[in-house]
Amino acid sequence: RQEQYRRLREVPSVTRDGVAIELQLNAGLLVDLSHLHETGAEGIGLFRTEIQFMVAERMPSTAEQQKLYRTVLDAAGGASVTFRTLDIGGDKILPYMRAVEEENPALGWRAIRIGLDRPGLLRSQIRALLKAAAGRRLKVMFPMVATVDEFARAKALAERERAYLERHGHALPTQIELGVMVEVPSLLFQIDEIARAADFLSVGSNDLMQFLFAADRENRQVAHRFDSLSVPALRALRVVARHAEAAGCPVTVCGEIGGRPLDAMALIALGFRRFSMSPASIGPVKAMLLALDAGAVAKAVTSALDLKGDDATLRPVLAAFAARH
Ligand code: PEP
Ligand code: MG
Repeated sequence: RQEQYRRLREVPSVTRDGVAIELQLNAGLLVDLSHLHETGAEGIGLFRTEIQFMVAERMPSTAEQQKLYRTVLDAAGGASVTFRTLDIGGDKILPYMRAVEEENPALGWRAIRIGLDRPGLLRSQIRALLKAAAGRRLKVMFPMVATVDEFARAKALAERERAYLERHGHALPTQIELGVMVEVPSLLFQIDEIARAADFLSVGSNDLMQFLFAADRENRQVAHRFDSLSVPALRALRVVARHAEAAGCPVTVCGEIGGRPLDAMALIALGFRRFSMSPASIGPVKAMLLALDAGAVAKAVTSALDLKGDDATLRPVLAAFAARH
């Protein structure tokens, strides 16, 4: 199997009916970058910057952050890298930061919320990213955004850092793209506004599903109570795909579901064309899409989603489709 997947590395990632699908990698450590070459992935679709903070014994300095980001960009060569700003809090606690006692950490003070409330931390990170990407393209996305205003504030903060560096004669990135992770359901109801405001979107389906179904992703008793291929899950994802396309806003799925072949098939049916996943998922997903008729699966999924049957999940429909083709 592994050998078979390795052979797919050089094969263009295109469905049987000619739809190009971009496959990227999720990463967080330097060692993950070796997988870029091994898998033939087109870039890093999600670089989890909090990993550096989680393995450190004290807060990494701006210079240390900059060094890591530069190394990542160098290792990627010209391939695209999407950095996600610190996603701490919730289940990701920094040992050297004062812990905040919370009843519901997943719904608590985390990610962009910390970034906006403690702007020193986010500013230091943005500055490190801007400096590391001098002379190249920089893509940065913000986690756990719940309102358009939060993104506007994060964007303003990034712009202030850019202007500061420019004023002080620093070399800047050739292009700066700022994106939003879609992982809080409130964004589904302001999807047009956020798609217009952002340079790109990235669906964090791990969190989006947890919040959509109110089922803690870390709690084994409830994490599997819902199906990512159920009608409500797919309808929610379809909203993102449709509105992002209408707004001309590129969208990626970077949560785990994109790395599961049957789910990825459903996502392609909904109109998603870019995925970011763990290295081990690239081979299986690529094998699936090479054999896929995207037009046919889109028809099957659309009619099943629009039909008001009592089938709560499309899993059997998709499994049957996969078996037939
Ligand atoms: C997600 O929520 O789907 C995601 C990609 O981010 P993380 O798993 O790091 O929360
Ligand atoms: Mg997340």
